Amino acid sequence: MLVVIVGVVTLSFTANLLIEQTIPTAQVTPVRTTVIQALAVAALAATIAGLTTSLLLVQIILRSLRNIAGSSQRIAAGRYDERVEVPASDELRAVAESFNQMAEALEQIEQRRITMIGNVAHELRTPLAGIEGYLEGLIDGVLPNTADTFLDMKQEVRRLRRLVDDLQTLSRVEAGQISLHFTTFDINDVIRRVVAQIQPQVLDGCLQMQFASHEHPLLVHADPDRVAQILLNLLGNAVRYTPEGGCITIRSVHTNDEVQVIVEDTGIGIAAEHLPFIFERFYRADPSRARTSGGSGIGLTISRHLAWAMGGDIRAASAGPGKGSTFTLSLPRAG
Ligand code: ADP
Repeated sequence: MLVVIVGVVTLSFTANLLIEQTIPTAQVTPVRTTVIQALAVAALAATIAGLTTSLLLVQIILRSLRNIAGSSQRIAAGRYDERVEVPASDELRAVAESFNQMAEALEQIEQRRITMIGNVAHELRTPLAGIEGYLEGLIDGVLPNTADTFLDMKQEVRRLRRLVDDLQTLSRVEAGQISLHFTTFDINDVIRRVVAQIQPQVLDGCLQMQFASHEHPLLVHADPDRVAQILLNLLGNAVRYTPEGGCITIRSVHTNDEVQVIVEDTGIGIAAEHLPFIFERFYRADPSRARTSGGSGIGLTISRHLAWAMGGDIRAASAGPGKGSTFTLSLPRAG
């Protein structure tokens, strides 16, 4: 509207000037009247065209916004498969596409939540079924009322407790709520401490340590207790998945800005199709074997989140089943 008014005023001013300069005085009034009439008709036509276009545009924008508002309400009500139609106009297309991306992300989060609840229920069922079985056996008199039976039951309770503890740790690391106490320390000291802790479990097997340097400390900037927790998980897995007669090696190496702790075993190995998934919650390459050996299936997920929180990472490699596995923890080097 403002454009039409400015246009009409400018045109009439210019026309007036031209008329006064080029047309004889006697004809000025009729020419001016004709020009004004022509300008009035043009202004009216422009106003109508402008208003119609604006109304149409407003209608299109409002329809899209109403669509988006409706879809958000349906998503809020739990319909996570809801998407909006993508309009042709550039700006509205960008809004609709962003909305659809957000809806897809929400759908994936919901899917993960459902899977997580299913997994937790599944994991809880095994030790609970075990405890129930022992209790029924005791009640029916099938199992003897002896210390051995209660020790077996305690084993199941311990498994349940470990699962609940791991779940709590997992929810806290994933929410970024784990408190980390960063210091600069020698990674080789932590390796020695963890190996001493794990040694009783591998008395029959072999567990070797190799250090990048025996004389100089290999300094990292991280939380020593969390690093120990990660290494215990990696070494615990190596022990669990390496049959008798196998060997486990833990060694430290470094690059200019990174320190790596490599845990290598000669155990059962990991098939290529499982490798990309072993850091996912509850993923087990061999479910029956891992479950009976007491693994919760979330140790590696927790370890990788802890490594990320300290600015590092964990990678896994294996030449395949029966050919051992290698896990590499990398951390930022200090000093
Ligand atoms: P779990 O408690 O089941 O060991 P993790 O998250 O620690 O759970 O490991 C996930 C899976 O990765 C294991 O179930 C196992 O299939 C595989 N895995 C981990 N470490 C090793 C290893 N050293 N050798 C072979 N497989 C391994």
